[in-house]
Amino acid sequence: MTPAQLLHPTPKGLYCPPGDFYIDPVTAVPRALVTHGHADHARAGHGAVWATRQTLDIMAIRYGSDHCRQPMPTEWRDKVKLNGVTISFWPAGHVLGSAQILVQYQDLQIVVSGDYKRGNDPTCAAYEAVETERPIDVFITEATFALPVFRHPAPEDEIAKLLRSVDQFPQRTHLVGVYALGKAQRVIGLLRRAGYDETIYIHGALEKLCSYYIDQGIELGDLQSATLDKGQKDSFAGKIVLGPPSAFVDRWGRRFADPISCFASGWMQIRQRAKQRGVELPLILSDHCDWDELLVTIKELNPREVWVTHGRDDALIRWCELNQIKARPLNLVGYEEENE
Ligand SMILES: [Zn+2]
Ligand SMILES: [Zn+2]
Repeated sequence: MTPAQLLHPTPKGLYCPPGDFYIDPVTAVPRALVTHGHADHARAGHGAVWATRQTLDIMAIRYGSDHCRQPMPTEWRDKVKLNGVTISFWPAGHVLGSAQILVQYQDLQIVVSGDYKRGNDPTCAAYEAVETERPIDVFITEATFALPVFRHPAPEDEIAKLLRSVDQFPQRTHLVGVYALGKAQRVIGLLRRAGYDETIYIHGALEKLCSYYIDQGIELGDLQSATLDKGQKDSFAGKIVLGPPSAFVDRWGRRFADPISCFASGWMQIRQRAKQRGVELPLILSDHCDWDELLVTIKELNPREVWVTHGRDDALIRWCELNQIKARPLNLVGYEEENE
């Protein structure tokens, strides 16, 4: 059996014929393995779903407890057999519950990274390199920021930028655009680590997931909902308010006192994007690997082959080839690069 016979792309997602399952399928399938709760990876309507307990919980929060017929929670590193194919889940450091999946069959071993990062995040289990007895045949990696120009700054420095601005403009509200799963909680967690202990205000769209993180023992400090009545504008002066990026361009955002628009995303490295979105204070915070993190990971795992998925594949494939590692694009469809 070749690696491509064990796992190959199909329009529904990455398929494993001997195990008869899909990984992060983009349409409903009878048997799915899900790496993490972001909506483009975790869809509703599957039959059985193997995932970490936290990913299953997040899917239930987003889609309702009937999002699949049979949830199959798996513990970190536990080996589970599906039609003779062994699967196990390893921390990916991307968002709470996010996993890489190791697929082992006969003498083949493939690691599917899902989305992953190596940078500091107090709100989820840190990335852990998959350990196997034999060398890894294929490492399937995401490539969201796979260009040498992408180098994420230290998260602490970006949070310090935000806190300096809050000090400097005590009459203004800092509106920080964050995605609801992962980024919101990471920004809050990093603010707390930096010693910011005032109430942080959150948009309604973030409440359920923030509560879930707190239930899971992640310390987010005092959070209040950012609802404001007429004539209450000034009560948010000098405060930090978090909401989904879309909320700040509509009327909701304009109700705050002389707001400063901030946006926490890896894409804020591109000045043009920050400008287009009207972001005054871009915060470069990514839940994906930058170029250096990708290379460090590949060097560490030392796989025979690298398959590259959702993102910019060319530069990474060229780097692998220059380093005597076979590499190819996977051309999976249905994953969004923006949603980070
Ligand atoms: Zn993701
Ligand atoms: Zn993704």
